Amino acid sequence: MRPRFVADSMLGRLARWLRAFGFDVHYDPAADDHEIVATARERDAIVLTRDTRFPDPPDVRIIFVNEDHVEEQLAQLVRDVPLDLGDARALTRCTVCNETLAPATRDEVWDRVPPFVYLTHETYARCVGCGRVYWEGTHAPRIRRTLARLAGDTGRTGRRA
Ligand SMILES: [Zn+2]
Repeated sequence: MRPRFVADSMLGRLARWLRAFGFDVHYDPAADDHEIVATARERDAIVLTRDTRFPDPPDVRIIFVNEDHVEEQLAQLVRDVPLDLGDARALTRCTVCNETLAPATRDEVWDRVPPFVYLTHETYARCVGCGRVYWEGTHAPRIRRTLARLAGDTGRTGRRA
């Protein structure tokens, strides 16, 4: 089963990247430790935290993210969860609100995308939660490149020389 996560307030960037890979990440920067643990319990999710003093309840898995940069944090999750990036699905989840994306036609999104994008892209995805529209623009190739780099990187420590 694909792992689900709850990220603490320090890990917003990591949360967005995991969502960009299609993973379910609950992120509420206002939540305190107890709320984070309760959410993880409720969602059967793994807690990701930067806080070395985060509580360590017996029934919830806590991963302390010790890397500073987001790519290294992702590489750490590949090692420690372990996260199988073969399960990653680019452009299936909203990076802003974590809801899933549904396919949308050009005519459905014409008023939500820049004119150049409208003219050059036929297929889109729309968030079922917030309505944000995604397309295969500059973002998707970057996600796929990062994914490919991380997938080829799983045997290393994840730290760049
Ligand atoms: Zn959304």
